[in-house]
Amino acid sequence: MALAFAHVPTMLAMIILSSLTTAGGMAVVGAERRHDGVQWWALGLLFNAVAHLLFALRGTIPDIFSIVLSNTLLMGVYLSLLAAVLQFQGRRLRRTAAVALPLLMAGCMALLADSYAARVVVAGLLLSSMNLWLLSCLITRWKTTGGRGAWLVVGALSFQTLVFALRIGLVGISSWVGAELMQSSAVQTLTFMSTFAVVLVASMGFVFMARDRADEDNRRLAAVDSLTGVANRRAVIAALDRDVARSIRTHEPMALMMVDIDHFKNVNDRYGHPVGDKVLCSVVEVLRERVRSQDLVGRYGGEEFMVLLPDTTAKGGYLLAQQLCEAVQALRLEHEGQPIPVTVSIGVYGGRLQPGDHWDMLISAADRALYEAKDRGRNRVEVVEALRRPASLVTANSGPETQPALF
Ligand code: GH3
Ligand code: MG
Ligand code: MG
Repeated sequence: MALAFAHVPTMLAMIILSSLTTAGGMAVVGAERRHDGVQWWALGLLFNAVAHLLFALRGTIPDIFSIVLSNTLLMGVYLSLLAAVLQFQGRRLRRTAAVALPLLMAGCMALLADSYAARVVVAGLLLSSMNLWLLSCLITRWKTTGGRGAWLVVGALSFQTLVFALRIGLVGISSWVGAELMQSSAVQTLTFMSTFAVVLVASMGFVFMARDRADEDNRRLAAVDSLTGVANRRAVIAALDRDVARSIRTHEPMALMMVDIDHFKNVNDRYGHPVGDKVLCSVVEVLRERVRSQDLVGRYGGEEFMVLLPDTTAKGGYLLAQQLCEAVQALRLEHEGQPIPVTVSIGVYGGRLQPGDHWDMLISAADRALYEAKDRGRNRVEVVEALRRPASLVTANSGPETQPALF
């Protein structure tokens, strides 16, 4: 009994339609963000639609279009996808590859125009190699560009490589592969159905990759202070909340600094707001350069910054704050030849936490220390080692820290 396989022109029409509609959608998505490769991907899908249209016209148009140009366009598909992935990873496709590989495919197809089986093998090998190249680009940079979208792309491309391999392996059995392109067969059905699915799944994966990248960029932007580039108030408080929970769990001490620029209003009044902004950035630079990699600097508001110091005692926080004070004072800022004196006052909280302690208690403690530093003449560091805990918490934990003990 002869098995009925899917009608080849219908499958080609499905591929053309899915490639065109997906390319259209991606072109629209890619127009917003031009540097993440989506537009290259859309171009690849457009090539795919045209290549399959030329396949569908086999026999009705000259072979040079239906055999040579169509397969050359398929090479263009993979080169565009490769350009898309490379652009997504901040890299570029070499121009020589973009010229030489289509020429290679065109030459091979022109030479093998008389043998369908030989073309299946040669085109299959060339396109599988492109697939493997794409896969290696994705896999070798998995740490930076991996994720759910990349999984879909890798899965779809791996599946297609297997189909290519099967097609090449079975090419001698014409009852399985068919004697020419338009003849329905088991392998032909598998090839075109998988192309149809791969177009959809891999494209969806790449859109996910771009979307996840955009989400990540937005999250990062939402957490950063636009003037100074450090964590903004929301982000630094969220980090403080996490550090407090961790410190309670591990019983390690932690410290928190409140850094406030002295008489900053005068800087603005005397030199203008833009100069004030530059001073803010210079102070932040000093803080960022001097803290350890595990510490976090954030802008709490105006000219006030917070520095989170995990696993740090009050004494450790005090010593670092002293260094920061001295480093800011040593800044040689000037405006139109006039020196701009800049100093900071720093309030430090440092100590061990108890269950129930909350981030706002640490901020209050560091703020009290900062107030002390301002009160005692500015350009100095004061430390508070006691948290003001609510009475209920003190009794529950039976260890009130009422008296400040300096270190
Ligand atoms: P003190 O030593 O007591 O801290 O005095 P101060 O003048 O630094 O404190 P005050 O709170 O009176 O003034 C803070 C100033 O910081 C007022 C405000 O205009 C300025 N400021 C807040 N945010 C910015 C900013 O983003 N850029 C600039 N240039 N100035 C800012
Ligand atoms: Mg100030
Ligand atoms: Mg202030």
